[in-house]
Amino acid sequence: MSPKSNPKCPACGAGSWKNGVSRTGRQRYVCPSCGKKFDERAGTPYHWLHKPERDVLMATVLYVKYPLSSYQVEEILELFGIEASARQIERWPKRFGPAARRILGRYKVRFSKVWHVDEKFTPHDRAPSEKYKRGRRKWAYQITVLDSRSNVVASYLAPERSTEAAREALRRARDAAGFSPDFVVSDDCFIYDRGVNVLGRRTRHVRAHFEGKLYPHGKGAVLLSNNRIERYHSTLAPKVRSMRGVKNLELGDQFFQVYNFMHNLFRKGRLKRILGRLSIMPSWEGLTRLFYLVRDLSPGFAVRTERRRDG
Ligand SMILES: [Zn+2]
Repeated sequence: MSPKSNPKCPACGAGSWKNGVSRTGRQRYVCPSCGKKFDERAGTPYHWLHKPERDVLMATVLYVKYPLSSYQVEEILELFGIEASARQIERWPKRFGPAARRILGRYKVRFSKVWHVDEKFTPHDRAPSEKYKRGRRKWAYQITVLDSRSNVVASYLAPERSTEAAREALRRARDAAGFSPDFVVSDDCFIYDRGVNVLGRRTRHVRAHFEGKLYPHGKGAVLLSNNRIERYHSTLAPKVRSMRGVKNLELGDQFFQVYNFMHNLFRKGRLKRILGRLSIMPSWEGLTRLFYLVRDLSPGFAVRTERRRDG
């Protein structure tokens, strides 16, 4: 039997044995069943990093969560004596994607049963054009599904506005939440007309505008309008602008997954409660450690961290 405190093998998931110390002073491990050798940071976002872990995490939070360009983040960090180049900062967010998925898989956000969906135009590429010297702008569409408490359920960075793109975003939302909502609220865009069908017949599609309308829901009624997702887009828009759009759709989609994760994680004291459950102090050091701990947690069951809501 391998000691329980050792990390699991990243290749086959079996327990591991200690296997000496690397030149840089990191504990190394070996897997007795498949023979893989790895160090203590394998499977964490910090694997093979030279920079201090806390600095990487800080840079990533600043760059992902706030409407700052990578150059501005570089500048801010410099004020605190932390050295990181804009290029490095741009590459770090995707390191946190798998860990973010694991955290969200375990500490599930309890989404409400009223969802809002809308797409945001995102500059993507430029097509050669005779009229414009720099080329004609091409767009991608960041489709976001929000619940009625402004948690991001899911998003999809689509290359075009189509029914299939809307379906992909809503499919992701259903998989993330584990259920189909009672209402999906959208604007008049044609992609949702048949796109919402993917959630099944029980889900009601409502086309709403700026002014709210009342719809019967359960024993009462809900007031549905587009304001909530418009409000969300007003925080997303400056972020998109600061990045000057997305060059690569796949990487852009990965970036927005981490963006969604941070959006949900830092809301309503959720991070504090997650750290509290693991008996970690709410600090940068604590958050840095969280990404070690989630690697070693079994993903099997979800822990509830949401406060009980009345009604
Ligand atoms: Zn193994």
